[in-house]
Amino acid sequence: MVTAVAQRLAAQRREINDTLARLSLSSENLQQVKDKMRVELERGLRKDSHSTASVKMLPSFVYRTPNGTERGKYLALDLGGTNFRVLVVKIRSGIRKSVRMYNKIYAIPLEIMQGTGEELFDHIVQCISDFLDYMGMKNTRLPLGFTFSFPCRQTGIDKGSLVSWTKGFKATDCEGNDVVEMLREAIKRRNEFDLDIVAVVNDTVGTMMTCAYEDPKCEIGLIAGTGSNVCYMEEMRNIEMVEGDEGQMCVNTEWGGFGENDCIEDIRTRFDREVDEGSLNNGKQRFEKMTSGMYLGEIVRQILIDLTRRGLLFRGHITEPLKTRGIFETKFLSQIERYRVVRAILQQLGLDSTCDDSIIVKEVCGTVSRRAAQLCGAGMAAIVDKIRENRGRNQMNITVGVDGTLYKLHPHFSRILKDTVKALAPQCDVEFVLSEDGSGKGAALITAVAQKQVTLRTL
Ligand code: BGC
Ligand code: MG
Repeated sequence: MVTAVAQRLAAQRREINDTLARLSLSSENLQQVKDKMRVELERGLRKDSHSTASVKMLPSFVYRTPNGTERGKYLALDLGGTNFRVLVVKIRSGIRKSVRMYNKIYAIPLEIMQGTGEELFDHIVQCISDFLDYMGMKNTRLPLGFTFSFPCRQTGIDKGSLVSWTKGFKATDCEGNDVVEMLREAIKRRNEFDLDIVAVVNDTVGTMMTCAYEDPKCEIGLIAGTGSNVCYMEEMRNIEMVEGDEGQMCVNTEWGGFGENDCIEDIRTRFDREVDEGSLNNGKQRFEKMTSGMYLGEIVRQILIDLTRRGLLFRGHITEPLKTRGIFETKFLSQIERYRVVRAILQQLGLDSTCDDSIIVKEVCGTVSRRAAQLCGAGMAAIVDKIRENRGRNQMNITVGVDGTLYKLHPHFSRILKDTVKALAPQCDVEFVLSEDGSGKGAALITAVAQKQVTLRTL
C-alpha cells in the first residue's frame, strides 16, 4: 500500500519534471540564442535584409549621450509602460547639475487602448491639459519629449511612424502613421494650448540616456518590464538605413520581435505557442513573449492548466481563476518566488492549494522566470560582443542602464541575467545600473540634446 502511493508520487514527480525540462535551456541552447541574435542584429542593420529582419534595428536619430551641459525646462510624456504619465522636467547644468521632476500618473482605460487612434490621442491631450492646469502652466509653451514605447520607424528625431502596436495596445488607424503628427493633430483639435514637440523617444533610449547622464560608460539601455527591448550606440557606418559613416547613433533594436522568422522554434514550447495564440498580436514579438512581464504569468498559467488537466495539480480541478487570462501579474510571480507564503498568495488569487501544490507552483514560476532572464542574458551577450568587435577590442568595460518592473521587482531575474552575460560574453565586463525614470528624465535629456543639435546646425 505504502509502496503504491510512493510509486504514484514518484511517477507524478517525473511527469512534472519532464514538463519543466522543456523550459530549461542548456548552455548550448543559450549559446545558439546568442549567435542567432547576432545574425538578426546584422540583418536588421543591412539594407538588403532590413525589411525582412525579425530584429528591426530602428535608427533613433540620437547621436550622442548627454555630457552634463544640458539644461532647461521640458515637458515629457510617457506612453507604453505600466502607466501613462505626464511630466515636467527641469535640468540644470554646471556645478549645480541636477534633474528635477514633477509628474502625474493617468490611467488609460482598456477601451481607449483598444479603441480608435483619435480617441487615444484625444485622451492623451486631455491628460496633458489636466496636468498643465494642475501645474499652472497652460500659457508656457514648453519643448516636449514624447516617450512612445513601441516600434517606430523614425526619419528624424521628431518624426516616427508606428510599425505595429505591441503589449496591450491595439488602437485603430495608428499603424503606419506618424505619432508626432497624430499628437499635433489632437492638440489642434482641442485648440486650448500649444506645444513644441521636439523628440519622439523609445523608452530604452530614454533609459540609456538617463544612465549615461551619470556614467559615460553607459551605451546600452535595457527594458525588462511589461515589454522587453534593448538599444545601444552603433557605428554610423554599420547603419546602412541612414546616410553617413561618421560617428555613432543609438539603435532601437526591437529585439522583442526576435524569432518572428521561426529561428527559435526549437526552444519555444507549446505553452509559448498557446500564449502567442491568445495574445493581441499572434505570431509577433515572440522573444518578448518569452521574456517580459506581460507574458510570463500567462506562460505559468498555461503550464498550471496543463498540469491540472493531467491530475498533477489542484486535485485536477480547473477553476475560474485558473481560466482567467492575465491573472498572474509580474508582481505575483515576484511574490511567489520571494516569499514562503505561496499558499496565501494563491489563495488571494482564488486558487485553493495543498502544500504540494504550492511547491509545484513555485517551481513553475522559477523555471519560467529563469528562462526569461537567461534569454535576455543571451541576447545581451550578443549586443556587448558586437559593440566590442565594432571597436576592435579584446576586452571591454561597458554599462547597461536598466529599467522595468521585472528587473526591479523579481528576486532572481537580475542575478540570472548578469550570470548569463558573464558566461556568454567573457571578454566583456558588463555593469548593470538601475536607471529609474528613463522615460521621463531621458525624454527631457534627449529633447535638450536635440535642441542643441538644431542650434548648432543653424549657427
Ligand atoms: C516595444 C518596445 C519597448 C518595449 C519596452 C516593446 O513591446 O516594442 O518599443 O521598448 O516594449 O517597453
Ligand atoms: Mg516605462
